[in-house]
Amino acid sequence: MQLDFADKHKVFIQKIQFSDAVNGIKTNILRLDNIHPIISGNKFFKLQLHLAKALQDGYNTIATFGGAFSNHIVASACACKEIGIESIGIIRGEEPESKSETLIAAADYGMKLIYVSREDFKNKDSIKNKFKDENYYWINEGGYSVLGAEGTKDICSWIDESYTDIVCAIGTGTMMAGLVAGSMQHQRVIGISVLKGATTLKRDMEVLLPPSDLQKNYEVIDGYHFGGYAKHPKELIDWMNLFYEQNNVPTDIVYTAKLCYAVKDLLLKGYFNHNSKIMLIHSGGLQGNLSLKPKTLLFN
Ligand SMILES: *Cc1c(COP(=O)(O)O)cnc(C)c1O
Repeated sequence: MQLDFADKHKVFIQKIQFSDAVNGIKTNILRLDNIHPIISGNKFFKLQLHLAKALQDGYNTIATFGGAFSNHIVASACACKEIGIESIGIIRGEEPESKSETLIAAADYGMKLIYVSREDFKNKDSIKNKFKDENYYWINEGGYSVLGAEGTKDICSWIDESYTDIVCAIGTGTMMAGLVAGSMQHQRVIGISVLKGATTLKRDMEVLLPPSDLQKNYEVIDGYHFGGYAKHPKELIDWMNLFYEQNNVPTDIVYTAKLCYAVKDLLLKGYFNHNSKIMLIHSGGLQGNLSLKPKTLLFN
């Protein structure tokens, strides 16, 4: 099935420069954020096989889970509208008095939002059970799934054999699993965790991989969360503005700004071999910046 609302021709590779350049190492970024203004970056790839399956199997509704600022929620809402299927978002926490831009947008795309308490949200099976008589196609929170990982394998079609390292941000690890599966034997995939103390992340990622891929070269790196998931101290905002000035690449506060910072820091620490050629994955997420005060960023 063709999901022709996303335009793969809009994806491009851009050379990037870090202020303290390290000799002999080339750094490029894959601008997946450009594939669609809302179903941006990795969310299109994670959803694509689910959307195709839901349509093929005759479901009339896709239901999924997420927080009030979830890129996955807004991408799912918009994608469902594009393919002409209903959508339901189970949202963590009570209905807020003033809604986030993410939830406003999701509702605009026709997603029905159902709020559940933080406590109840933990038990996904019991939530699903309440709707067991409905014809819903369920997608996990954040799109975490084998099918999601398979869909992100496509990202590797832009990464030729000249690259030695592929670096991405990780939330659930779904995209990273796809990149590991799609990478070549001589390449290393590095995942930058944006979560604090997520000790099971590597394992969660590995669960999505076919066993034959477990011998590939991959690594999860911690310590670049800037205080925790979605935390964005001034130091991070300053970095985003500097990176934009230097490279004309907008990044998001939750994932890609931390990814780019991590690569810069790892370069300075001598983590990469000389003559490395690194591909950073711009996995999108720019809509998340709408939660900032206007003019915080030079772009936006
Ligand atoms: C959702 C998201 C991620 C995390 O992807 P996972 O597959 O859950 O690890 C990374 N970057 C951006 C911009 C995202 O929106």
